[in-house]
Amino acid sequence: MAISKKISGFLSGASWIRKMFEEGERLRAIYGAEKVYDFTLGNPDVEPPAAFKEELKKLANNPIPGMHRYMSNAGYQETRQAVADVLAENTGLPFDARHVVMTVGAGGGLNVVLKTLLDQGDEVIVLTPYFVEYRFYVDNHGGVIKEVPTGPDFQPDLPALEAAITPRTKAVIINSPNNPTGVVYDAACLAELGKLLDKKGQELGTTIYLISDEPYAKIVYDGLEAPPVFKFSRNSIVVTSHSKDLALPGERIGYIAVHPEMDGVDLLVEGLVFCNRTLGFVNAPALMQRLVAKLQREKVDIAAYREKRDLLYNHLVSLGFQVVKPGGAFYLFPRCPLPDDLEFVRAAQKYNILVVPGGGFGRSGYFRLSYCIDKQIIINSLPAWTQLAREVGL
Ligand code: PLP
Repeated sequence: MAISKKISGFLSGASWIRKMFEEGERLRAIYGAEKVYDFTLGNPDVEPPAAFKEELKKLANNPIPGMHRYMSNAGYQETRQAVADVLAENTGLPFDARHVVMTVGAGGGLNVVLKTLLDQGDEVIVLTPYFVEYRFYVDNHGGVIKEVPTGPDFQPDLPALEAAITPRTKAVIINSPNNPTGVVYDAACLAELGKLLDKKGQELGTTIYLISDEPYAKIVYDGLEAPPVFKFSRNSIVVTSHSKDLALPGERIGYIAVHPEMDGVDLLVEGLVFCNRTLGFVNAPALMQRLVAKLQREKVDIAAYREKRDLLYNHLVSLGFQVVKPGGAFYLFPRCPLPDDLEFVRAAQKYNILVVPGGGFGRSGYFRLSYCIDKQIIINSLPAWTQLAREVGL
């Protein structure tokens, strides 16, 4: 076999999310879909907002000549401007189309940003637990990932973060609302974080970029808000997508936005556009760009997610599971009631409950549940959770 040693190593530590999903397929074939409680994948089960379908129909009925051709590697001017208009409105900052690059989802966008910023050996700080793909994205571009644990409430531990910063620190990736914990960072926390990165950058004579990965920014509950990170650091870069807020993950549409007042902003954007091209993305999908330009103020039905969160969270807490109540996204990250995550995951499997061990997110001692699944499956799963809780001694 001629694949690289590195990829072969990555494959043998294969993603827990995928492993568990495959286990789900096996169990569904045996017991039927309604008796398998698969909480493994963050794949939105809601439909895109009605406005998406209306815009899609309009475009199909009145095609624009040339609409399937290549365009600027940064994306259509009118789409970038539509994104910039909403960013300007939300932040009061002078955003325009020049500060926005349309991308192939947030995953594509993160790779473009890291490719543009990193020299070999540069360090990127992530806060555990984290979206595990960051590990591979940073590695893709020669960077070195440095994990810093969050506190017991999964909020950033700023003294620990400060201690991890070195002259090689190029960026810190944050993700709020968070996958896997669902926690949302408030304005005070982001302000402190912004101040810390500026202070350390000045001390070290470097720039430490704040990369904010925010595909769940519009999925927040209980009157909470995910404050725009641009207000707190001039060196901020937002990477996001419409995978979750418009429920379009298969369409691969997102964007990068750069703080308009960052030093060297034009060169950075030039680099991003170059990397969007040379990583082989070339440009974000043309049809989706036309549609999302009209949908920047839309989002999916959050009430349906909140209802599922409450259903599951309340039941788990009543059984004695320790869970930080999530303010956003569609995940729960309860503490594992057994000392070994894997033993717990296996115990859950006996009741057809599929969850992902916390170790898969860089934080053992927990497990992740994704509740963007059919509400009826969640309801069906509740007695199985009760039995599982008994088995593990809660
Ligand atoms: N970042 C986080 C935290 C995610 O949870 C995901 C997907 O689940 C992504 C990025 C990638 O999203 P996209 O579909 O936009 O590439």
